[in-house]
Amino acid sequence: MHSHIIPKNLPDWEKKFGYEGFIRLEHHKPNWANMMQGDNFFREINHNCWDPEVRMNEYEKYATQVQVVCTIPVLFTYFSKPQDGLEVARFLNDDLANLVNKYPKNYIGLGSLPMQDPELAVQELFRIKELGLKGVQIGSNIEDKNLNEPDFFPVWEACEKLRLAVLVHPWNMMGKKNMKKYWLPWLVGMPAETSRAMCSMIFGGIFDKFPNLRVNFCHASGSFLSTIGRIEHGYNSRPDLVAVDNSKNPREYCGHFWVDCITHDQDMLHYVLKMQGSKRVTLGTDYPFPLGDLEIGEFINRMNLEKSVVEDIFCNSTLEWLNLKKEMFI
Ligand SMILES: [Zn+2]
Repeated sequence: MHSHIIPKNLPDWEKKFGYEGFIRLEHHKPNWANMMQGDNFFREINHNCWDPEVRMNEYEKYATQVQVVCTIPVLFTYFSKPQDGLEVARFLNDDLANLVNKYPKNYIGLGSLPMQDPELAVQELFRIKELGLKGVQIGSNIEDKNLNEPDFFPVWEACEKLRLAVLVHPWNMMGKKNMKKYWLPWLVGMPAETSRAMCSMIFGGIFDKFPNLRVNFCHASGSFLSTIGRIEHGYNSRPDLVAVDNSKNPREYCGHFWVDCITHDQDMLHYVLKMQGSKRVTLGTDYPFPLGDLEIGEFINRMNLEKSVVEDIFCNSTLEWLNLKKEMFI
């Protein structure tokens, strides 16, 4: 339920819109492309980032039939002028719609939104629903605005009303300018980003204002679940700072939202299962990127979990999150 895909070819948005920050693809050798941001090299990607058949073949080795796909967070473009952000989102969403229409039993799509303009984001949500996508992916912060901000309430409201699921993905990592070495933005910043998003949504009362909102958080909640004791203690000891918008203990929300299983650590997954229950833990991979769980589900197979728990992680939890039925894929 957590894998990334992008169109093989992207327009040169920087040229079209007249300012920097957009990603463009340079296909510099067969089956490989460089993601470029202006003159800066961002990442080299393989054709498993864009070719649906290559991906299906790679997944088949791990007995996996269906991939829930969304864009790569660097394509969020929340920095752009709203109309330009909408154009980028529409391009990505149309591409995903073509994919899921062509391979309805192999791909499920999560759309992108121009979150810098919630009104346009809501407009695009209606289109996303019509296109047949099942949810959206949203960044852990929107140009450093946290997800509890009232500006975003209409987006949550529309997701709830349209029964579209939400995947919150860490990105634009806090502190990245001060920790360029050792891949620290990915190793330290990303887990903190996800916890930032979760604490913001919980303390902002988002799950109470929108009780039917179905939200999944990447990388087994980042550092949220492993620091829930501290978060709860903060709530109890300084309610004047923490419980200003919501008077419910943060621990009570565990098992309300969903998380993926990307922990790379069996003990940690046992703990996540204990906190969340197997119906709220989904099979994520972060495929095709190197920090992902690329031997899909293998470490779960080695954990000797009960069959029903494995079935929940591999299938049932994701179906419930997306409000889908297994029969649709058989
Ligand atoms: Zn990811």
